[in-house]
Amino acid sequence: MAVPLLDISRQHGPILDELREAFNKALESSRFIKGPEMEFLESEFADYCGTRHAVGCASGTDALILALMAAGVETGELVITTPFTFFASAGAVVRAGGIPVFIDIDPDTFNMDADLLDKWLNTNCALTDRGVVERSSGTRVSAAMPVHLFGQVCDMDRIMAICDDWGLPVVEDACQAVGAKWKKGRAGSFGMTGCFSFFPSKNLGALGDGGMITTGDDEVAARLTRLREHGGQGYIHREIGFNSRLDSLQAAFLRIKLRCLEGWHKGRRRNAAFYDSSFADIEQVITPVIAPEAWSVYNQYTLRVRDRDALLAALREQGIGCAVYYPLPLHLQECFAPLGYEEGDFPVTEKAAAEVISLPVFGELTEEELAEVAEAVKAFYSGK
Ligand SMILES: *Cc1c(COP(=O)(O)O)cnc(C)c1O
Repeated sequence: MAVPLLDISRQHGPILDELREAFNKALESSRFIKGPEMEFLESEFADYCGTRHAVGCASGTDALILALMAAGVETGELVITTPFTFFASAGAVVRAGGIPVFIDIDPDTFNMDADLLDKWLNTNCALTDRGVVERSSGTRVSAAMPVHLFGQVCDMDRIMAICDDWGLPVVEDACQAVGAKWKKGRAGSFGMTGCFSFFPSKNLGALGDGGMITTGDDEVAARLTRLREHGGQGYIHREIGFNSRLDSLQAAFLRIKLRCLEGWHKGRRRNAAFYDSSFADIEQVITPVIAPEAWSVYNQYTLRVRDRDALLAALREQGIGCAVYYPLPLHLQECFAPLGYEEGDFPVTEKAAAEVISLPVFGELTEEELAEVAEAVKAFYSGK
């Protein structure tokens, strides 16, 4: 029996009529960009995340670019992030005019290692009247962008304490972590802003592209609202923004899906727990390590394994959907060669890239499918 890595149609099955009705309403309303549906979604999404504001935009990538601009990143300034993430995290830094500075990850959670962040700032930076400045180059460090990878929020107690000490704005890349918690706070409620993607395969996916930025700051929210629409107010422009708006239709779909989200989280967490116990005794497999303070929404269920490539091939041979997120760390991507990083610079990231494999974890998997995936992994390692 083949098992898909993700089957979105199963998630949509029970809400098909609602989605169709939303489409019909949007068609009749002739409001296709922003509009009341987007405003309702913004307010419901802000409530869900526990933030004052949420500002819709066209994608998660755009959310990051807009949030970096609103954090005050200027051309040529440094933005701290990690090299073990989806390309868009660092791509957005460059598109916002910044230069990525990579900090290695924690080997357990795959998230930014707060000790290494602290060390990099203390070793390389000084606090000046221009803010944080990298001493050797004199370049300003204008923001930190931790990524809540695979649905687990970073250690936001430590990261916020370090960044607050330096006065460094934090832009959370929460694109994989909608609803995930660190202690009582949801992703996107810790930093200056939180950035979300509604790419269809994310835990809250639109039927196309979409994004959202959360913030607790009234002025940042107002600036983001201008920046997503060419940066002006009326026809008066003091800065240059983008065309990055959320479609009314996508907002209407997302409002329906947001109401299902907690139930979907439950399903993913139940499936993750099943795998955790199934793999507990396999010596060659390390199951996801979730910090005790974190409540993961498992956008991915990602193992660290021995003989990863052989396991990948064996599972695919049996029709079991699986993938490597992410096979080539960002500091080794050709387009970032000008940053001057080399192999060996981020050993924890490089090791993770060679060892990780993600398994199907979406909430609508059947018990038979889960058992099949678990058995296939067990069979691969039995006798090894
Ligand atoms: C998906 C994703 C993005 C980009 O979102 P899009 O909506 O596809 O533009 C950015 N960062 C991370 C970590 C992501 O997973």
